[in-house]
Amino acid sequence: MITAHELGHALGFCHKNPRAYHSLLAPNTVDMPSSGRPTKRDRKNYHALWG
Ligand SMILES: [Zn+2]
Repeated sequence: MITAHELGHALGFCHKNPRAYHSLLAPNTVDMPSSGRPTKRDRKNYHALWG
C-alpha cells in the first residue's frame, strides 16, 4: 500500500483529500485502500494525466 502510494507520487500525483474521494494518494494510511490497489478514481486520474 505504501509502495503504491509512493509510486503514485513518482508518477506525478499529489495527495488527495480523503473527504473528496477514496484514493491511494490519501495523506494518511488509515484513509488508503487496504488492498494497496488504485481505486476507480485513481485509475481515472492516471489516464487523465498519462493517457
Ligand atoms: Zn504521500
